Amino acid sequence: MGKGFFHVPEAVNEPVKSYAPGTPEREEVLLTYKDLWNANTEVPLYIGSEQVKTGDTRTINPPHDHQHVVGTYHIAKKKHVEKAISEALEARKSWSKLEWEQRAAIFLKAADLIAGPYRQKMNAATMIGQSKNIYQAEIDAACEICDFLRFNVEYMAQIYNEQPESSEGVWNRVEYRPLEGFVYAITPFNFTAIAGNLPSSAALMGNVAVWKPSDSQMLSAQIIMEVFREAGLPDGVINMVNGDPEMVTDTVLASPDFAGIHFTGSTDVFKGIWSKIGSNIQKYKTYPRIVGETGGKDFILAHPTANPKQVATAISRGAFEYQGQKCSAASRVYLPKSLWSQIKDFVVQDVKSFKMGTPEDMTNFVNAVIHEGSFNKLASYIDKAKKDKNAEIIVGGNYDKSKGYFIEPTVILTTDPHYTTMETELFGPVVTIYVYDDKNFDAQKWADICELVDNTSIYALTGAILSGDRYAAAQATDLLQNAAGNFYINDKPTGAVVGQQPFGGARASGTNDKAGSKMNLMRWVSARLIKETFVPATDYRYPFLGE
Ligand code: NAD
Repeated sequence: MGKGFFHVPEAVNEPVKSYAPGTPEREEVLLTYKDLWNANTEVPLYIGSEQVKTGDTRTINPPHDHQHVVGTYHIAKKKHVEKAISEALEARKSWSKLEWEQRAAIFLKAADLIAGPYRQKMNAATMIGQSKNIYQAEIDAACEICDFLRFNVEYMAQIYNEQPESSEGVWNRVEYRPLEGFVYAITPFNFTAIAGNLPSSAALMGNVAVWKPSDSQMLSAQIIMEVFREAGLPDGVINMVNGDPEMVTDTVLASPDFAGIHFTGSTDVFKGIWSKIGSNIQKYKTYPRIVGETGGKDFILAHPTANPKQVATAISRGAFEYQGQKCSAASRVYLPKSLWSQIKDFVVQDVKSFKMGTPEDMTNFVNAVIHEGSFNKLASYIDKAKKDKNAEIIVGGNYDKSKGYFIEPTVILTTDPHYTTMETELFGPVVTIYVYDDKNFDAQKWADICELVDNTSIYALTGAILSGDRYAAAQATDLLQNAAGNFYINDKPTGAVVGQQPFGGARASGTNDKAGSKMNLMRWVSARLIKETFVPATDYRYPFLGE
């Protein structure tokens, strides 16, 4: 602690710029896009003070133009991962002792660098490497990451302020120690902000980290490291190791100093990691913290009193923005028969109006899906829906990977509420609709639909209900209590904002430690209570022992 009780700057959400035609930000991001498109960026490993080029490289290809090469990234061998761990532990000696306000200043500076001079580089890298349109890039790679960094500083101050009572003659204090060891961060492709947040939230609390980014997010991962370094993050506090996820993970999990994992990605991968941690438990010096946000099968449920245009817009935006590759994206929808034809018309109209193509052309709402594996998986489910008797494609259904991995936004209508695409996470621009009978509708029938929604999926990440009837909204809020960690009333299930809607799900969707909240930061500290007695007792006898 420094020499004062410092107030941190109040965190405010980073304003989202419009990028409307004629704005300076539009011109700037397009120029930066061109530069990065032609730059041939080389991404090393970041280990301690070194930028390691192993010579074993992979190319970085934009999903919307997969033959074009925008750069290469170097792949770690086991010895590099081991070095990253030892460098992290070495850095811990100084970092864990540094005053909190010094740590805070680094990450606040990183936020200001991203909001200012790095904004368009972050956006352009995300547009190119992850195929996001400018709006999706801006809300992620510029705004959300700034929000994580700034709000986390505010939450850290709140945590440190939480102190116990002290009785007369005693002073009780709680010290929020970083974990003893290092934290392993594994990040997904779909949010640049998550990639920045998972290692930095632990580091902010005084931890050191080994970070393994996704192979499909390497371009923006590189800019994140540039920003952290320019912000003054000391060497070794966050070590970035790229490469074979299993080898990197097995090497990390074999270390006795492994103290916690901050994971976001798919459910099966997380379950596999959890099992490995379980089998290694005798090796560790402390019980590792296990934090994971994983898959979803997010729902929209409309009551017969819902407004059809609002329901349609929730579907169009909730299912298709960023090609449905948000963990919160709506992918199963339950609609009343009485509203179906109206909602269908609106949704079909919306989907037909979407333009699809490169993010450089800003009139495109939809871009490519992340890689060939994802493309092939989505195409196979679309083909299956074309053949199955209990499914029908009402709009979309085409795909083409000749230049980029383009999947047309697709709406499947099914007569089976347990049809495979109502239950399986596809992670792409495909939404499935089930229409329920709302003849002679009453509270019991609404309860039955809620039960169906609740029991259909193993996941519980996000869900939205739309209803003009307050009693029905209240009933669904209660009945769907465990169906979603983020529950929306009269809204789409996507678009959580740091500081406003802390994000995370339960059941197979994760440990629900709510990224961008105090709850999450609490996982990266281990409290020590210090009790100090001013005038200690000198006689063991209590008064009751008197004759
Ligand atoms: P993914 O599981 O394929 O990859 C995530 C990370 O895990 C990557 O860094 C990857 O290299 C690594 N990985 C892959 N296999 C591994 C293994 N065997 N051992 C260790 N690490 C391994 O996920 P993705 O395709 O990058 O992201 C999409 C998934 O992430 C979806 O399931 C989505 O729902 C989920 N997601 C969840 C949230 C949330 O907050 N709940 C947010 C974003 C994404």
